Amino acid sequence: MPVCLPNSESDSVGNYNRLSASQVNAWKACPRLWFYEKVRRLVMPQIPILFVGRAVEEAICQTLKESPCLVMASAPSDVYAPTPLDDEGRPNRNHDASWPAEQLLSLPEKHWPQNKNDLILWATERVKKHLNSSLESMKTEWSKHDRKAGQWEDVDVDRCHMMATNGILMHINEVEKCLLKVSKTILDDWRNGARPQWPAPDGRGFQLDKHPLSQEGDVTWIEAWEISRPWFVDPDAKPFMMNAVHPEHWFQGEYDLVYSWDGAIRIIDIKASLGNNDRSGDYVKQLRMYAFLWWHTHEKQQEVDGLEIWYLAANSQKMIEKPTIKEMDEMGVELKELWGQLREVTPDIEQCPPMPAPMRSFEPGGIPSDKPVKQTRCERCDWSMICPNGTGHDEHPHGGTYQLPGSYAEIEGDPIDELEDRHDIVGHVHTLIHSQSGRAPRITITQANNAFADVQVKAMTHSDGTSTVPEGLEKGDLVRVEKAFFQLNYKGAIVLKVDPFSKIVKIDSDEEVSMSLLKPRARWNIMGTVVYRTEKRGVSARGEWCRKGLMILDNTGAIKIEGWQADWGPQYDMLELGDTVIITNVGMNGWAALTTGEIYRSSRLHIVAED
Ligand code: SF4
Repeated sequence: MPVCLPNSESDSVGNYNRLSASQVNAWKACPRLWFYEKVRRLVMPQIPILFVGRAVEEAICQTLKESPCLVMASAPSDVYAPTPLDDEGRPNRNHDASWPAEQLLSLPEKHWPQNKNDLILWATERVKKHLNSSLESMKTEWSKHDRKAGQWEDVDVDRCHMMATNGILMHINEVEKCLLKVSKTILDDWRNGARPQWPAPDGRGFQLDKHPLSQEGDVTWIEAWEISRPWFVDPDAKPFMMNAVHPEHWFQGEYDLVYSWDGAIRIIDIKASLGNNDRSGDYVKQLRMYAFLWWHTHEKQQEVDGLEIWYLAANSQKMIEKPTIKEMDEMGVELKELWGQLREVTPDIEQCPPMPAPMRSFEPGGIPSDKPVKQTRCERCDWSMICPNGTGHDEHPHGGTYQLPGSYAEIEGDPIDELEDRHDIVGHVHTLIHSQSGRAPRITITQANNAFADVQVKAMTHSDGTSTVPEGLEKGDLVRVEKAFFQLNYKGAIVLKVDPFSKIVKIDSDEEVSMSLLKPRARWNIMGTVVYRTEKRGVSARGEWCRKGLMILDNTGAIKIEGWQADWGPQYDMLELGDTVIITNVGMNGWAALTTGEIYRSSRLHIVAED
């Protein structure tokens, strides 16, 4: 099974604390780099190439999902209706109405591909169609990102088409192999409607009586296309919902393609690149970790039969040697130890030294090479400006006092790890307005001191899978709003924001009101080094808007502080990256594991020291 869900009864690790292959590789490349990205949560500049790779992969998967019996080559890219999803965002096992492929009539047989060339013509036109729309949606996503960098115009669309076509042609070779080699048993099973636990996404449900596209006699090209389809994440599914999670929950991964049409399991990683840089070393390790994961998620009863990296720009399929059982045993010990070191507890900066691994050299196609690399890891690192191995240092502010220029007033800065963002608040439900459209109810709570809070439910499902709003909630109930973001809105009213890490719990009427709504602190003064700026722009009914932000690092943590452009004041444009700043009257906001600061009109930014 390519998907293995966590067991909610025994999962004491949780979605946000599992180890992944990319974390292991980042740690091995440089522990300090891992620390900046995974502990301090610094986000690298989002250049278009990062989005292009996803667009190419998505176009390939969208094409694989379709059937040439149902979709004309020239049809629009959205001819399949979206896959019905369950509450968690996975294809809905219980959906009993028609599925997207069932909503389309079969094309007349004269339009069905009869040979390899017909199939190539159909599939290459489809992938081009899908690529155009996935590039468009990635462009939108890129342009909305607050760490957007580079120019979208630099994207080489012809190269993207070339890569997507190469990927599809690699798959068609697989279809041909299936046509020539599929066993009678597998063919008959498929014709009779056999489906695995997690079928390859094909716009159909989890169960079929007889496959609607089954033929008689020898296998046809159409059938080979259907039978050889690899498993991949349904492009309509919610991100990160189709993981394979280790039975002990401390490791997870999401495979790109899993071929299994002949009973042999092959995991493929798709790379929209040439494969001629250091990362090619990481991909090999990633696939070997996936082999380990597959073995463990199959009770150590099934090994993968093959591991491949498809370098689409080099038009090359690199075969990776799969690990032996002994190697997987050793890998398990090493990975679990690493999980204990990195995710079970959070290491501090001293435990993550700036020790970059040497750069590895590869020729196109991921072929190891002896050629010297042009740049060291530190020279190409996004964090060299703050890292002691680059031009930075480890001496960042730790709270402290700052005297405003021209004033006797002193401001006390709050260390980032002392910011209190979430609180448990007990109160009676004062108003409760249920939404007719199944959206979050509107709730206010009150305490005896006549204080009110607006409970804004932004997530209906908690990260533990339960509902954030208790069933049967009624006006007058005593509730505890657990771990809600405590905020003051622009009018000064108290807001308790409920996200996937918070929930409302009904409690006994004699429970004490332990925290007064008037007690938590809602505004903070944050002093630290500026690592980078963020910016988001858009247009609303009220006209153009712009939100700007700064990523601030101190000795105890890092936090992104955002606000409307007009609230930042003139010093925002004057500061240089690396400067030390203090920002006063910052509110707390965030989502799940990520806490952010919010500035308001009353907030002030002061440059304390220039880099
Ligand atoms: S600059 Fe070098 S040592 Fe520092 S984080 Fe980057 S790679 Fe690691």
